[in-house]
Amino acid sequence: MKIAFVSSEMVPFAKTGGLADVSGSLPLGLEKYGSEVKVFMPKYKTVKVVKNQTVIGKGIDVFFIENEKYFNRENLYGDRSGDYPDNLERFAYFSKAVLETLKKTGFKPDIVHCNDWQSALIPVYLKTIYKDNPFFANTKTVLTIHNLAYQGLFDKSLFPQTGLDWELFSIDGFEFYGKVNVLKAGIEFTDFINTVSPTYAGEIQTKEFGYGLEGVLQKRSDALFGILNGIDYDVWNPATDKNIAKNYDASSSDQKYLNKEDLQRSSGLTVDKNVPLIGIISRLADQKGLDLIADIIEKILKLKVQFILLGAGDDRYHVLFDGIAKKYPKITSINLKFDAVLAQKIYAGCDMFLMPSRFEPCGLGQMICLRYGTVPIVRTTGGLKDTISEYNESTKQGNGFTFLDYSSAKLFDTIKRALSLYKKKAAWLELVKRAMGYDFSLEHSAKEYLALYAKLASKKSARNHAGCVAK
Ligand code: ADP
Repeated sequence: MKIAFVSSEMVPFAKTGGLADVSGSLPLGLEKYGSEVKVFMPKYKTVKVVKNQTVIGKGIDVFFIENEKYFNRENLYGDRSGDYPDNLERFAYFSKAVLETLKKTGFKPDIVHCNDWQSALIPVYLKTIYKDNPFFANTKTVLTIHNLAYQGLFDKSLFPQTGLDWELFSIDGFEFYGKVNVLKAGIEFTDFINTVSPTYAGEIQTKEFGYGLEGVLQKRSDALFGILNGIDYDVWNPATDKNIAKNYDASSSDQKYLNKEDLQRSSGLTVDKNVPLIGIISRLADQKGLDLIADIIEKILKLKVQFILLGAGDDRYHVLFDGIAKKYPKITSINLKFDAVLAQKIYAGCDMFLMPSRFEPCGLGQMICLRYGTVPIVRTTGGLKDTISEYNESTKQGNGFTFLDYSSAKLFDTIKRALSLYKKKAAWLELVKRAMGYDFSLEHSAKEYLALYAKLASKKSARNHAGCVAK
């Protein structure tokens, strides 16, 4: 099967979050199982390639869409003052350029797999501007929602930047409370929609998680699927990771502490393998439950632990954690930046990892933790619910510590449960080993995507979109 995979970010070229990890790894899995894949992303300033095309895997072409004005900037989507005001224009350009590049290269995809609002215009273009174009006669679209909180919302006056007829600015198309909503239009027009965990696929059809799009998603529920992301086990592998001090696997997990000591040393923490080291690597955004952590961080720090944070994002969290760093310099290491190498050291060196997310479409951090034998403490929502279950010392079931109510008291109790198991060295080591035995590798998700593509390919083509009245 021929797949065009379109994403606004992708490891190793540009990354702000989990979308980049998935875009960098899923195509490799698809290729492994026999698909012919081409990947498309913008050529940002950070993309250090000489040509506008390169190869990953065995033979996956990656095409970089170049435009000096739109993409040669410091960041991907915006800066500290907010989103770039011309984002609609930028990604409309990107989406059209992808379709034109496909035509130019003669690669006729069976499936164009779009990701998030930045490429959600593609299904719309294919069923409007390119509707009668024979080149795309057999092309179908999948739109993956990695996070429904980001919808591509713009002022109505900007709609002409899509290059589409005003007729599409309707309740069955782009219109969303008087604004342009690109993701909504993508959901209306794409053949299949999917999101990144089965639980989140259900959650987004409810008022609590739907961000106003629950009705649109319910309407299309027969075309809505949930496929759990996987991580690349070659990249995230403590047995071969070159960025960590001591390689280990499940059979030598007792050696993990050497990474902890290395991390403590390099972070200015007291080197002590017995003090529990709690880590966080996260975008500093409300979604990630940082308000819960903010509430109880000082209480946590009184529990004889060390705390290491790596993250960047909202100013108020920068201010908060700066303050914590100053007040507790001996037991905290606060790193307010994006640093892929440090991230690997933290995954390998910590004992526990916090993900108390308010909502979590899939979450990769907890899967990486399991791979590195770092015990996740999570709120059971979205993909966290699909991957982490409470450890039961007597039955030896489960792989982490969990809580459901979004409350700092519950988070605190859960941390204390983890710390009390940590005191029982043998039991803790057993949990570490057990965590490392889970398999959330990308091969699983690649197989599920292939089954989804096959299901879609076997459907009769419907070149008019699901919601709009066909002309
Ligand atoms: P999201 O995509 O919502 O940010 P995920 O858990 O799906 O969250 O993916 C986050 C990815 O980004 C993980 O690979 C995580 O290690 C990485 N990450 C997040 N913040 C940082 C940071 N400050 N430095 C390095 N890596 C980070």
